[in-house]
Amino acid sequence: MKEQIKVIAFDADDTLWINETYFRDAEVELATILSSYGSEKEVIDFLFKTEIGNIPLFGYGIKGFTLSMIQSAIEFSNYKISAKEIEAIINISKEMVVKPVVLLEGVEEVLKNFQSKGYKMVVATKGDLLDQQRKLKKSNLESYFHHIEVMSDKQEDDYSRLIQHLDIEASEFLMIGNSIKSDVQPVLSLGGQAFYVPFHTTWQHEVVDSEIVHPNMKSFKNISEILSVL
Ligand SMILES: [Mg+2]
Repeated sequence: MKEQIKVIAFDADDTLWINETYFRDAEVELATILSSYGSEKEVIDFLFKTEIGNIPLFGYGIKGFTLSMIQSAIEFSNYKISAKEIEAIINISKEMVVKPVVLLEGVEEVLKNFQSKGYKMVVATKGDLLDQQRKLKKSNLESYFHHIEVMSDKQEDDYSRLIQHLDIEASEFLMIGNSIKSDVQPVLSLGGQAFYVPFHTTWQHEVVDSEIVHPNMKSFKNISEILSVL
């Protein structure tokens, strides 16, 4: 398997750097703004349903999340939310965008190691193009990657296009990421290889019920552990 790999693709959010934690914090801040209309859990559940409804329209990332927060505030408050409170919600998002990029432990060591072994590395992420570019720049990891792919979604078709673009066979493609649903399953279905490195927090939408076992997949506790097999 090791000999076969030509390109290693890394998911970005919660694989290279911390991301989901900021969204969880933002949800709690929204719940605080809406606390006179319902409990934290009710607000967060309402927001989640709104986000799922909006994904086909707005895709993933902070901008779509902002619109979902505003829509949730309007509907959850039964149209009583004030302009001042809407402004506070927009400010939650503006703060998210300027958050520092905090790399996960071991990331840089792994990238350095793979670079020295001659692997071609790419980033395969979804989210807002501008936000992902900004994070990559701030991360100081840009020079390790041959190509950055910001995908509108991470389904089989999206990976298939990426693999074609890289001019390799699916079996020569290894994806490393923290989401079974977005980083592992679609790549395995195409005949590629996947390493699963979970982050402590997973967005509800990315959670899958069953554990998967597959000959082309390996699980790791943290990214540094990968160095023992590649
Ligand atoms: Mg991720």
